[in-house]
Amino acid sequence: MIVVGLTGGIGSGKTTIGKEFQSFGIPVYIADEEAKALMNRSKVIKRKLIQLFGKSAYKGDTLNRPYLASKIFNDKQLLVKMNAIVHPKVASHFKRWLKKQESPYVIKEAAIIFENNMENQYDYIITVVADEDLRIERVMHRDNASKEKIKAIIENQLTDDEKIEKSDFVIVNNDLNVAKQQAAEIHESILKKIK
Ligand code: ATP
Repeated sequence: MIVVGLTGGIGSGKTTIGKEFQSFGIPVYIADEEAKALMNRSKVIKRKLIQLFGKSAYKGDTLNRPYLASKIFNDKQLLVKMNAIVHPKVASHFKRWLKKQESPYVIKEAAIIFENNMENQYDYIITVVADEDLRIERVMHRDNASKEKIKAIIENQLTDDEKIEKSDFVIVNNDLNVAKQQAAEIHESILKKIK
């Protein structure tokens, strides 16, 4: 099965563009969402995260995301340890999901691909970019987050130029109609490549 990575910085529009590919009949696996779901569902993950972060990691059965986010934001080691608990579970969940798909290719949306040197797990990679002021505005609106917080997250991520250089395709999502047209062209182009 051909796996196409869909990545981009915060608020670039990965999920929005993923929906466009879904409308072409391409299944989309959203790695961050599946990770969140597994962190709530898996007893093994829950036990290990409580060992790592303490009891505040969960509120009842639900992951205490703001608490974890505040802990890992300034502590790379803790982030690495958390990923070592969660990522293998997401990887095996993705493998099982992949076996069930019947389509010319699938898309895996992941905020982090190049940052973890995971590009070799994809046949092709699409990066979604958008102007920074638009991204900030969109996320402020979507998450009710502060400008400073979003800027700090952007600073923590690879720049668009670094991602573009390593990508097979780029979608510029400043204007949604333009981005949708680009998605349609990329879809056709991938179909041709894998024929
Ligand atoms: P994150 O990295 O935070 O998960 P993302 O890259 O998946 O974000 P989306 O959630 O798709 O980004 O988009 C962020 C917000 O911006 C959403 O509320 C979405 O509806 C909106 N949005 C996306 N693309 C556009 C666009 N071209 N024009 C206007 N709003 C948009």
